Amino acid sequence: MVDFTLNEKEQTIIDEILREGLVCRKYARYYDKHETEVLPDELPEAKDFDHIPAMFLDRGEDGSGPTVFGLLATMYRNWGDHLSLRRPPRGLGNASLTAAGTEAQKEKWGKTVLAMANTEPGCGSDSKAIETTAVLDGEEWVLNGEKIFVTTGIRAEGVVVWATIDKSAGRGGIKAFVVMKGTPGFELSKKEKKMGIRVSDTAAFVLKNCRIPRENLLGLNEEVKKKGGGGFKGLMKTFNLSRPATAAIGLGNVMAARDFVTEALEKEGIAVDWEAGLHKRSAVQQKLIDLEAELEVAILTTLRSAWLGDQGKPNNLESSISKSKGGDACRLSVKLALEVLGAMGMTEDQLVEKWFRDARITDIYEGTGEIQKLIIARQILGYTSADLQ
Ligand SMILES: Cc1cc2nc3c(=O)[nH]c(=O)nc-3n(C[C@H](O)[C@H](O)[C@H](O)COP(=O)(O)OP(=O)(O)OC[C@H]3O[C@@H](n4cnc5c(N)ncnc54)[C@H](O)[C@@H]3O)c2cc1C
Repeated sequence: MVDFTLNEKEQTIIDEILREGLVCRKYARYYDKHETEVLPDELPEAKDFDHIPAMFLDRGEDGSGPTVFGLLATMYRNWGDHLSLRRPPRGLGNASLTAAGTEAQKEKWGKTVLAMANTEPGCGSDSKAIETTAVLDGEEWVLNGEKIFVTTGIRAEGVVVWATIDKSAGRGGIKAFVVMKGTPGFELSKKEKKMGIRVSDTAAFVLKNCRIPRENLLGLNEEVKKKGGGGFKGLMKTFNLSRPATAAIGLGNVMAARDFVTEALEKEGIAVDWEAGLHKRSAVQQKLIDLEAELEVAILTTLRSAWLGDQGKPNNLESSISKSKGGDACRLSVKLALEVLGAMGMTEDQLVEKWFRDARITDIYEGTGEIQKLIIARQILGYTSADLQ
């Protein structure tokens, strides 16, 4: 039987993490309003909380994948803000390193903060449409192309760039390359200004005859599989590792919205009577119950996908379910929060308007909700990506 109840020690750590989240959210609110990378002196020092063991961070001690407790910790760390995107133990590129790198490469770059660049102007949901090329020239790969919407792209020390070594091979030619900052030909072209999650930096890059060592190819496998698979599997594996964590970050946001609405209503003398039948509930009480139910389902599916990963079992279906439910819960919950609070939800004096802007991303990055539903349908019905697209 699976039991997600926390023991006393775990609860103490979660309480500490929530305390960290509550302090550090001041950073997130600052970044939401200011276009800067530099924090003013009066904000509290996040490093006070650095003693929380790395094993409780969202991708586990070695960055290898989400653990059940790690994801719970992520939800509480991100209570009300997407702080993990600002203070990642590592970046999304580290999940690619775990998914596609050799043991020696994991050793070499394991402690480096790596962003991950898959998306291009002409390639988003359909990852196999990657146009960025990598051509072997002697002992170097020469990369050319454009990458957009790279999370942590500004602060990362390097970026895992997905590129094709043979466009005619489709997904079979796609490989991942570690490109360190400062490499000639690897240029930051833009920092995005976003509606929400402004705590997180999002960058665009141009690669112009960017030369990197031959051994920076993750997995070191230069073979092109004409029938697909190959490096593309590493990209999909990256998402299996990261999607539950992405959902967990968004759910932390929703938990704060739920708590805020519950407290606001309690001040008005409105509380949910869970015993009362449907006919005895007010519309507003029903909305709170709906919000609570959405959140609970999303949390449980997220923890289940992490639990499967913990057990060493495949979790590709479950990681898409967690991301899909997480995205739905984020969108629905903040919408309900706004409906319940009315005008109060719209004012910048309250955080709900910020949560509303922030929550939308959970259903977009690392594959939109529509794409997750496609993946889920394919797996349940036994269709290939060619059958159902
Ligand atoms: C803040 C932010 C951070 C990001 N971080 C990263 C990152 O770190 N690294 C990275 O590589 N990318 C990143 N992305 C990019 C993100 O993963 C893509 O935006 C996302 O995958 C969707 O791709 P697209 O924007 O090109 O939309 P498109 O693929 O053009 O899709 C447009 C719309 O059509 C829908 N759609 C597309 N195909 C189908 C289909 N077959 N069936 C049904 N509906 C479909 C989509 O759901 C979407 O609603 C980030 C994006 C944002 C906004």
